[in-house]
Amino acid sequence: MKIVVCIKQVPDTTEVKINPQTNTLIRDGVPSIINPYDLHAIEAALDIKEMMDASVTVLTMGPPQAENALRDAAAMGADDVALLTDKVFAGSDSWATAYALSCAIKKVGYDLIICGKQAIDGDTGQVGPAVAEFLNIPHVSYVSKFSSLNGDAITVRRLMDDGYDIVEVSLPALITVVRELNQPRLPSLKGKIRAKKIEIKRLNHTDINVPPKNVGVEGSPTQVKNIFAPAVKKDRRMLEGTADHQVEELIEALRCIRCI
Ligand SMILES: Cc1cc2nc3c(=O)[nH]c(=O)nc-3n(C[C@H](O)[C@H](O)[C@H](O)COP(=O)(O)OP(=O)(O)OC[C@H]3O[C@@H](n4cnc5c(N)ncnc54)[C@H](O)[C@@H]3O)c2cc1C
Repeated sequence: MKIVVCIKQVPDTTEVKINPQTNTLIRDGVPSIINPYDLHAIEAALDIKEMMDASVTVLTMGPPQAENALRDAAAMGADDVALLTDKVFAGSDSWATAYALSCAIKKVGYDLIICGKQAIDGDTGQVGPAVAEFLNIPHVSYVSKFSSLNGDAITVRRLMDDGYDIVEVSLPALITVVRELNQPRLPSLKGKIRAKKIEIKRLNHTDINVPPKNVGVEGSPTQVKNIFAPAVKKDRRMLEGTADHQVEELIEALRCIRCI
């Protein structure tokens, strides 16, 4: 079974800063890590590899420094690592990112694709499902447990707001995973030594047959007009009196939100 895990290198901070001129993330000076949900995706793939004959390829699209994330994945135990990198990919939105990833995944081959449920910086949760759409394969998001897996199908538990769904999909398929699925392993010393030497496959747009006009800013249907942190209003009003009176006042206040 050929498993491809998509990982994203993200800033190691919850306080993402935005460049007001370009409306893009400021990454300079912020250390980077593997997106935390993607560590669970790697762990899931390695778990499967330990149960059956499988290979694990970890793929990322990003700038050359995303190699560090791939070496971390190799240290955990990935067999192969590939970096999709090219100037023409810069400025890609989630649509163009998913398109480029799907073309790269076609090139490396796949039976099962595993993604995180979302990236902690971009946060859209769109890339995984969009990759599946580009590849025209089924996907299950929010997977919190693998129930069974064979060469033809996978049965998973999907986390819902009010419980779980048990879903069986035929392979090839894509799943996105949540933290509840597993506990990502720490790299071993042997893994770290191997990761230092591992050859990182580099793919550019010609390697994956992607015309430049379909990626980057030109190939991105989303245009970010403005990004800002909403102002936090500190005004507050305490309601007093009996519970009935407070409820009436609250309803009145909600009707006329500006009165609060
Ligand atoms: C108009 C526009 C321009 C942009 N320009 C830039 C830019 O110049 N530079 C920049 O860094 N970002 C840019 N972005 C942000 C970039 O498009 C998103 O970060 C990217 O599409 C992933 O979306 P997300 O972060 O919401 O990931 P999500 O959809 O939340 O990620 C879900 C999962 O998909 C997988 N995944 C996501 N991204 C990748 C990846 N790159 N490689 C492999 N797997 C991945 C991971 O498994 C992840 O857990 C831009 C966005 C827009 C809208």
